[in-house]
Amino acid sequence: MTTELLARHAKAVVRRGLRQVANALDRPTLVLIYHRVTTLPTDPQQLAVSPEHFRAQLRVLKQHFRIDRFDAPGAPDDRRTVVVTFDDGYADNCLEALPILEEEGVPATFFVSTGTIGTDREFWWDELERLLLVGDGHPARIDLPLGETRIAAATATAEDRRAVYDTLHPRIKALGPGVREAFLVSLAAWSGRGTAGRPSHRAMSVDELRSLAASPWVTIGAHTDTHTCLSQLSPAEQLEDIAVSRRKLENWIGRPVSVFSYPFGGSRDIDEASIEACERLGFARVAANWPGTLHRWTDAQQIPRCLVRDWAEAEFARQLDGFWLE
Ligand SMILES: [Zn+2]
Repeated sequence: MTTELLARHAKAVVRRGLRQVANALDRPTLVLIYHRVTTLPTDPQQLAVSPEHFRAQLRVLKQHFRIDRFDAPGAPDDRRTVVVTFDDGYADNCLEALPILEEEGVPATFFVSTGTIGTDREFWWDELERLLLVGDGHPARIDLPLGETRIAAATATAEDRRAVYDTLHPRIKALGPGVREAFLVSLAAWSGRGTAGRPSHRAMSVDELRSLAASPWVTIGAHTDTHTCLSQLSPAEQLEDIAVSRRKLENWIGRPVSVFSYPFGGSRDIDEASIEACERLGFARVAANWPGTLHRWTDAQQIPRCLVRDWAEAEFARQLDGFWLE
């Protein structure tokens, strides 16, 4: 083992030790993050959990933990607590996840990015997948302006296109909504596929959002309008993107929205202005997307969450064990 590896290992051991002490001092709450409950032919971002696995996962949670609501935590007791959340607002949240949550009696909070709701477009990361990775017959080369730069590469084979997709994903994530949209429209024209989304990847319609919100098991939270990486926007643009999503949601569902989750939600995806915007808008609780648990002393504007993948029951239980010590 190299010195560097040893140092990393020692750090991990210390971190887990500290987590154990924190967990003994104050019963932690673990907030889980889901995106989709459905079955997909390809899922390069690994966002979908199959309905079978989702039901099995909820049963593991019910058996071992108290299940709380993100927006209205109950009084703490001796059990460890878990919270279920969803990001983005895919149609399957209403069509496939909701019936399972209701049958199992598990509450969940859905953070909805409003710009794609009720449109025929896909979220931008899915659109990128559809235009580059799905099917064949693409042009042999791509050479398009991308903001102030260009993307130029071979696209003749599936491997070429995968390489372009892997290059483009982080570059598009760093763009503001206007430049991103202009690029996606040019990419759609280049691919000959148009901008209309796949039924399997659509966001909720407004009616579906309303029927999701009508369930007593559901809380609706905001998640920006454009799903842009907030740290790439000016403070005023951040405030606007967050405020617009809340206003649209409140108009659609007819009740106040008091919780929010940062798009992407990593520590580099937000900055001081993001946190200030949430405080100014008065959100009671804000979810991030880095691993960890929620304690009494956790900043309510930066609540860690652990990402759930398409794990069968045994693997899910194993991953949960690790989450308490993240
Ligand atoms: Zn999101």
